[in-house]
Amino acid sequence: MLYVEHLSKTYAGERESLRDVSFRLARGQFVAVLGPSGAGKSTLLRAIVRQIQPDGGRINFQGIDLATCSTRELQQARAHMATIAQQFNLVRRRTALENCLAGRLQDLPFWRCCLNRFPDEWLRAGLLALGRVQLQDVAFQRADRLSGGQQQRVAIARALMQRARLILADEPVASLDPASARRVLELLRSLCHREGLTVLCSLHQVELALTYSDRILGLRDGQLVVDCPTREFVPEIGDRIYGTFPALEVATSRNNAVARPSEF
Ligand code: ADP
Repeated sequence: MLYVEHLSKTYAGERESLRDVSFRLARGQFVAVLGPSGAGKSTLLRAIVRQIQPDGGRINFQGIDLATCSTRELQQARAHMATIAQQFNLVRRRTALENCLAGRLQDLPFWRCCLNRFPDEWLRAGLLALGRVQLQDVAFQRADRLSGGQQQRVAIARALMQRARLILADEPVASLDPASARRVLELLRSLCHREGLTVLCSLHQVELALTYSDRILGLRDGQLVVDCPTREFVPEIGDRIYGTFPALEVATSRNNAVARPSEF
């Protein structure tokens, strides 16, 4: 579904933020991106959707090279990709349902957007998307009245409404309490395994990556230093990403780990 080949990026006046990064993502995988602060995780996710222009390399998504394609092709490709951010990026005064419908706004004539007039089938699809993230009950509540975990689940429902096949999640649980964080990651994982979505998700809690992901990409100083199935992650692999890495953390996470599909 996504091939990233020899991707590089240097911001003006900075050292290289991404250096010759290559990997492939298959459909239906939950892939965690780990790395210390400043390792290049956000830069990688932003380059994939071309929120920033990479300096070199290829990003092949469903047959289109996003690094060099035309604006029109980029728009077509972006229709199948959604981004989820730490701060949810919802319109606070709008309801959960209206935020969810925003996933399809590009398909609606401008006058309908202005008047907030959505086709009936959209309203049904929006309620279904909210149902898939267990939020049908709060569909008509304002986004800013929802908890952080609920808001992040609305952002996921918006991605479902958009019919995204690839979700790029940049620290999606960094501002959530532990229980809400687990619920959001559980949900993303189940969307991958049950519905064939692909999720590339940066995380700073290794324990969560070990518990929920199928595969781990590790970045250090802009280089991809680890690409392994999560079940093969051992403390020595953590060392490659972070320097010294506590063995205890891997052991604890293994004990908490939920069932994973056997194939990588
Ligand atoms: P991470 O997400 O792993 O914390 P980032 O991708 O945010 O890492 O940053 C990687 C490197 O790129 C850092 O050295 C950071 O200072 C630099 N960087 C990130 N964004 C910008 C920017 N907009 N302008 C200049 N440098 C940036």
